[in-house]
Amino acid sequence: MTAAASAVATASQPAAPGRSASAAPLMQAHGLARSFLVGAGAFRPRRTLHAVNGVDLVIERGDVLAIVGESGCGKSTLARMLLGLIAPSSGHITLDGTDIRLLGRRAVARRVQPVFQDPYSSLNPRRGIASIVALPLEVHGIGNAAERRRKAIAMLERVGLPARYADNAPGQLSGGQRQRVAIARALVMQPEIVICDEPTSALDVSVQAQILNLLLDLRREFGLTYVFISHNLAVVEHIATQVAVMYLGRVVEQAETATLFGAPRHPYTQALLASVLTPEPGLGIPDTGLGLAFPDPLNPPPGCTFHPRCPQRMSHCATVVPSLLADRQGAVACHLHTSKGQAA
Ligand code: SF4
Repeated sequence: MTAAASAVATASQPAAPGRSASAAPLMQAHGLARSFLVGAGAFRPRRTLHAVNGVDLVIERGDVLAIVGESGCGKSTLARMLLGLIAPSSGHITLDGTDIRLLGRRAVARRVQPVFQDPYSSLNPRRGIASIVALPLEVHGIGNAAERRRKAIAMLERVGLPARYADNAPGQLSGGQRQRVAIARALVMQPEIVICDEPTSALDVSVQAQILNLLLDLRREFGLTYVFISHNLAVVEHIATQVAVMYLGRVVEQAETATLFGAPRHPYTQALLASVLTPEPGLGIPDTGLGLAFPDPLNPPPGCTFHPRCPQRMSHCATVVPSLLADRQGAVACHLHTSKGQAA
């Protein structure tokens, strides 16, 4: 288990309390931002969507860092940047202290692998599943064909799919079995980090627990580190060691899981934890009890972007952007937890 506040460092506090400032974290995001130009219609100019807007993360070896927030908060864009699939507009990512731009896409892919939400669309329907799992080895020139097939079948067996399934097509498998194939494909490269983007939300509720427990077993067995994107707070509480809460492209609170669930400090985190989780997979967080709808990401509110929905807002919340400040409990970006807010 990792120390409190370990996964956050702000620009003014490069090392979180309780951790060595000298050893480089396994993965770190430094001021990560990503914007997109979005077409607004035939007679309106294109506008800039700031999907991720200045995120600092420190991911230590063995962490399960959950990133939570409503649909549109930027968590999947953040995941794709951590995978090296899209480049940040500004900021950068390091692995063991080295900028991933210097390492190159192939070297990053050997160390960081994805498991996506929809196992069906991410698996080639025309290949047998052993061939699908062996493909990353083939791409990276590892072993000969027989060795790759042997490794693929061994990994399939490890995730609970017997060798007799090796030549089945994905369409012959259930959703849970297909997600096991996706996990085997991610792990066959022996990565250090697995980025799981809503890995159970497309599955039946009865299968979700099996896949989560498999991920936890594999983490123990292979010493894996996970970044776990999810809207399901019950799942997050079960699997995560650290939780980062995102709102409109920024991390607004981060802490160890027990701390965050036991004593959430940001009003948005408090609303998320008080919300009723949807029983329908994939529908996200249906009702945060915040009254106003999630704001337009193309036209975010000034100051604290949460202020129009915040039941505890103060006068300066509409004009002053709160910084994410780390302390012994974790990190929070809210004026209620700064000397300015406490004096108001
Ligand atoms: Fe609410 Fe102000 Fe804190 Fe934003 S900074 S969450 S508006 S109290």
